Amino acid sequence: MYLTVRNATKTYGTFTALDDVSISIEQGEFVCLLGPSGCGKTTLLRLIAGLTDLDAGEILLENEPLSALPARKRGFGIVFQSYSLFPNMTVAENIGYGLKIRNVPAGDIAARVRELLDLIKLPHLADNFPGQLSGGQQQRIALARAIAVDPRVLLLDEPLSALDAKVRADLRSEIRQLQRSLGIPTLMVTHDQEEALALADKIICMNHGTVVQAGSPEELYHKPATRFVADFMGISNLIDTGTIRDVQPDLLTHRPEGADDAYIACIRPEQIALTPAEDGPATVRTIGFLGNLRRIELDSPFGPLVVETHGAIDCREGQSVQLTITPEACTWVANDTAEGAV
Ligand code: ATP
Repeated sequence: MYLTVRNATKTYGTFTALDDVSISIEQGEFVCLLGPSGCGKTTLLRLIAGLTDLDAGEILLENEPLSALPARKRGFGIVFQSYSLFPNMTVAENIGYGLKIRNVPAGDIAARVRELLDLIKLPHLADNFPGQLSGGQQQRIALARAIAVDPRVLLLDEPLSALDAKVRADLRSEIRQLQRSLGIPTLMVTHDQEEALALADKIICMNHGTVVQAGSPEELYHKPATRFVADFMGISNLIDTGTIRDVQPDLLTHRPEGADDAYIACIRPEQIALTPAEDGPATVRTIGFLGNLRRIELDSPFGPLVVETHGAIDCREGQSVQLTITPEACTWVANDTAEGAV
């Protein structure tokens, strides 16, 4: 492992912001820390950056403890949510700042700055000041400034969340391409599951100062460890065991053994088939057209359900429908809300 955090604990007074957290990042990997506001993501990033001290645990970079190294000696690049460029420096001076304080010769700095401006596709803005630029441009420059010094790790704290949707989507894919082409191990904090799914090689899902699940985007999406993860990944149709037993007991076929409130079923919107039927038990509430698919919201004996389909549908709002769901469509996940963990 390239970067390892072992058993990190951090308290603020009586509040435990991080409770025995262990994570790792491999060389070249893009890792997203994902979780709701206040779960400890930024605290963990700041501990790694050296901007906050650990109460217990350790952080290792290539097996060397980092605790003795102050932030500026760790060789990390950091980009924050607010663009945090130096307002009185030009774009070129901002990007070259880290090199200048490392006493790199002026000619080398100029060449590197030009190279980075090309890389972020803003070569014409070298002599502008940050106040003259859009949010997206400023954030690209903050990124160029962070990578100018060839950081050993790139730390991104919600770098896209202050941008509007279109700019955010563009910059998201640029970050992804840059990170891939440069191969810098990257840790990004986000509370946006779509962003994490689109960017990460590995997602670390956190809640209440602990890691709930770490794995590939596919693993978290298709095999959420708990109800909290399923909910947070935006997975629709979480149905409790009692309801399934009452409505369609054959769906319990693959359920693990355990008390009724120990597991709930996730049924993906694309795994439910609909057929119009006058005596059907479900009613179509709304049909939404999302361009490449249709999203249908139903009232059903299971409760409200969401169904998605790419094909044509022959039902209307207000119509009664029959549902087809197979036991294989149910992914059973631990119901962590039952334990009071969420
Ligand atoms: P957000 O997305 O809202 O920034 P987060 O997951 O990044 O959330 P953190 O910023 O790590 O969360 O904060 C975790 C918890 O620790 C929060 O409840 C926060 O109020 C608390 N906290 C963070 N920094 C301090 C501090 N310096 N003093 C006291 N409490 C703090």
